[in-house]
Amino acid sequence: MKNRRTKNRTVLIGAGFSIPAGIPPQKRLLSEIFHIKEEELSYENPTIRDDKKKLEGFLKSLYGEHWKSGNISLEDIYTIADFAIFRQRNIGIFDPSALFKIRESMDRLILYIINKGISPNDINNYAEKIQKMIGNGNTSFISLNWDYLLERVLISLGYKIDYGVPLERTYEEKKTGRRISVLKPHGSLNWRLCPICENIYAFMEYENIFQCTKCREIYEHQREIIEVLETQGLNFNQALLPLLVSPTFLKVNSVPQLNIIMQNMYSALSKADELIFIGYSLPISDHDIRDLLIKSYSLKQKIKVNVILKPSTEAEKEELRRHYNSIFEDSILDFYWEGF
Ligand SMILES: [Zn+2]
Repeated sequence: MKNRRTKNRTVLIGAGFSIPAGIPPQKRLLSEIFHIKEEELSYENPTIRDDKKKLEGFLKSLYGEHWKSGNISLEDIYTIADFAIFRQRNIGIFDPSALFKIRESMDRLILYIINKGISPNDINNYAEKIQKMIGNGNTSFISLNWDYLLERVLISLGYKIDYGVPLERTYEEKKTGRRISVLKPHGSLNWRLCPICENIYAFMEYENIFQCTKCREIYEHQREIIEVLETQGLNFNQALLPLLVSPTFLKVNSVPQLNIIMQNMYSALSKADELIFIGYSLPISDHDIRDLLIKSYSLKQKIKVNVILKPSTEAEKEELRRHYNSIFEDSILDFYWEGF
């Protein structure tokens, strides 16, 4: 790509960005989960093994004895589970609290699959390309991915990640590093929300559930109350909540931080002189993203739009071109079909 001198560059990444690192696209995640070998899990990952069993039971109940992981859409499962939890209704025999546990298991399984694929070598390869792209301009990122490959790459380059909302980090950062904005409107696999104080925690390597450092004390102070109530069958769960938004079910209103992220995204898009899309197909069903793009483009039409994708057929290429043409004028669009 030509190295243009631009003031503000906003880079939006989708699933295609992570595929070269061995992170499966969403439509293959479920198959990957059920291809994890039992030996791999029995000793080192008892939680993941149990998670797999829970999800298996759920899918069997929904889709019958002969369900096939390749036929089921993960997006469907997240959406119906989220919707039932939101309305406090069952899906068959699964009540909202059971559905909540199944959802947590799904999140852990995906985190496991995603981290399994990434090697230090991958991080280095990405780092080289990303550094080149950032250049001297003012670059900010928007990631629609649940994985946190981009952040790991940026940290390896010495940057400090600014997620656009206040959050606590459980990882060390280079104190002198330059700040770089990474907005994730659909949440992230490395985020956990405290259900008491609503603080978000971000981690970088794989970590199991941890507690909120601020709210842990409440459980200690109220130990006596907890002990009595537990004998009465009430359970107290100190775990932090995962923060993933299923694409078709916007949780924006229930997590105020996500609203702020959307607002920052609008600002990043409308200030940009150049937009770069990597591995994102801009599907018609992504109403929230399309809405922001249309609104920000109407404010500022003198921009350059670069689209980096890797279609496997001519027909797919045409389809992708149409998606972008449905928002941006032809004359400002440049397509790069070789992938990132
Ligand atoms: Zn808390």
